[in-house]
Amino acid sequence: MSVKLPIYMDNHATTPVDPRVLEVMLPYFTEKFGNAASRNHSFGWAGEEAVETARQQIASLIGATPKEIIFTSGATESDNLMIKGIAEMFREKGNHIITQAIEHKAVLDTCKRLEKEGFEVTYLPVQRDGRVNLDELKAAIRPTTILITIMYANNEIGVINPIAEIGKIAKEHGIFFASDGVQAVGKIPVDVQKDNIDLLAISGHKIYGPKGVGALYVRRRNPRVQLSAIIDGGGHERGMRSGTLNVTGIVGLGKAAELCQQEMQQEALRLGALRDRLKKGLEAKLDEVYINGSLEHRLPNNLNMSFAYVEGESLLMGINDIAVSSGSACTSATLEPSYVLKALGVGEDLAHTSIRFGLGRFNTQEEVDYVIDKMVQVVTKLRELSPLYEMAKEGIDISKMKWQTA
Ligand SMILES: *Cc1c(COP(=O)(O)O)cnc(C)c1O
Repeated sequence: MSVKLPIYMDNHATTPVDPRVLEVMLPYFTEKFGNAASRNHSFGWAGEEAVETARQQIASLIGATPKEIIFTSGATESDNLMIKGIAEMFREKGNHIITQAIEHKAVLDTCKRLEKEGFEVTYLPVQRDGRVNLDELKAAIRPTTILITIMYANNEIGVINPIAEIGKIAKEHGIFFASDGVQAVGKIPVDVQKDNIDLLAISGHKIYGPKGVGALYVRRRNPRVQLSAIIDGGGHERGMRSGTLNVTGIVGLGKAAELCQQEMQQEALRLGALRDRLKKGLEAKLDEVYINGSLEHRLPNNLNMSFAYVEGESLLMGINDIAVSSGSACTSATLEPSYVLKALGVGEDLAHTSIRFGLGRFNTQEEVDYVIDKMVQVVTKLRELSPLYEMAKEGIDISKMKWQTA
């Protein structure tokens, strides 16, 4: 069987809308277009009912109650709201926040903004395996710490943090615990009770729902979490997030959450097997490949691998019928290695030749086999052109060589 090209294997960046999600969304664009805040006619009631169904579906997926779910425009907004909202509300209590180096920019840049406003932020380093060290976390806690914000699973390396342990530490110290759950929710079991999570950010388009819609879980019991709004207006969403609700998107997010809950277990098994097939297939035919981050504590759909002795850009060009991400980010004129891989201690060379494979619901075994063959073919060819690879194979230690510069 031949595969359809190009192949999409970048499901940490976004996912397609599941056709079953689209189907339930469609009526809400046209005949069921009511404003969920319209209290005096059936158009409004239908909208409100749909929103409440979605709230229930999302709450159920993460072990919350519907009233604890606030709808937003996406996880970037949810991350902003959970961090700025706590910071502003509890400013009197303390001005210290703890996060870690390999958070998503939606968290890191929010923290940077707060630093400009007088807050102090500790950016914990991560271990070589990409996880937060619990002793370092404990040591960073001060009497003024009001918030710990640490992501559930990382979007580049798929590494899962010891979230339940972090939640326990936060609770023992009476500090709020917020987590960017975007990559974990819907992919692995997430339970805000078990994990002692007080705030959890969720995105629609990472779980086969639409773009431009997200949710924030805000704990209401034990403790009841209060937060300042960052968008003012009509007082929607219990005053925490004003703005006419994106009913269509919310319906889609709800359905996406329901499907994840129903299918997560078997999907994780299937994607985990495909990922392992990809990993083994590459390792069987290529030497000098390195996995970035813990393999044990990792999302089933992620493989992040560096291919030594190839040039990153040539590699990407060679596999241009496969949509993946690389460990290099084009910032203006220069090619910057990923800050995530850097924080893990991955050298620049290996960071530049890293590829993030993000498997998803619609990937097939045929596609994985195509990707293995193509990667092997391109990497092998590029290495044939590489004098460094040849020297390494001859046993010359390149790191000890003295280079002559013209
Ligand atoms: C994609 C992503 C976000 C941002 O979500 P949007 O809904 O696109 O704003 C935040 N955090 C992580 C870990 C992500 O992967």
